[in-house]
Amino acid sequence: MNDSTTPSLPELSEIWQQTLNWQPTTKQQVQLQRLYELILEGNQKLNLTRITDPQEFWEKHLWDSLRGVALLLRVGQKDFTSPLHHFIDIGTGAGFPGIPVAIALPDCTVTLVDSTRKKIAFIENILPELKLDNVKTLIGRAEEIGQQSQYRQNYDVAMIRAVSNAPVCAEYTLPLLKQGGLAIIYRGNWTEEETTALTDAVKLLGGEIEAIEQFTTPLSKSLRHCLYLRKIATTPAKFPRAVGIPTHKPL
Ligand code: SAM
Repeated sequence: MNDSTTPSLPELSEIWQQTLNWQPTTKQQVQLQRLYELILEGNQKLNLTRITDPQEFWEKHLWDSLRGVALLLRVGQKDFTSPLHHFIDIGTGAGFPGIPVAIALPDCTVTLVDSTRKKIAFIENILPELKLDNVKTLIGRAEEIGQQSQYRQNYDVAMIRAVSNAPVCAEYTLPLLKQGGLAIIYRGNWTEEETTALTDAVKLLGGEIEAIEQFTTPLSKSLRHCLYLRKIATTPAKFPRAVGIPTHKPL
């Protein structure tokens, strides 16, 4: 349901198809529009996002969130997502990339984590409105939940966008993955030098860099990167280090 004060998101079906080889169903389109409306409403009380224009919201929040899991979306259409069933989104903020991913992959569960209670409370309030029953929420710091047995080594895919630099993101995500699982780090710019530094950090954490994808966004043609890290060995027990250490002393 769209109220008269909220503009409609553009449908851009051809772009979904051409760039992600994916089409939202009518239900998913309604959910994405409702998410937009609820975030605009929430923005009146909480500082959720500066991106409110419908085209910009579509590109920077919805398309960008799903671009990181593009390969899994294609696989999902053939019902092969079951080996990659449990997702976690660290530092989800207003729910990105986790909520669009939960909408697009309804057979997967997505756990949304943030250290800010207000943001998780906002998400918990909007979940029934979005008719999403595959989302769980968790208030906490990545450094702490990564050391708790009910979360550590429990996920197939760990996503992280706009939280910290890549070595910190690797330390937050890799401990949470099962062996064979995939961490997806969403980035704007990326350089060769950063790849060198990240390679060593990822190795210490039991992972390897599987791929680094560079792409441009479909409307504003901005440069983006996604880093895909595969967990190939058990993460040593000392990682993640105590709260604040990963950011003060990145690996
Ligand atoms: N991922 C969202 C996005 O891309 O729109 C939000 C990004 S926002 C800039 C960063 C979020 O990460 C904030 O909501 C903050 O509370 C959360 N955060 C930062 N460090 C964290 C940590 N160590 N553990 C959990 N959440 C964290």
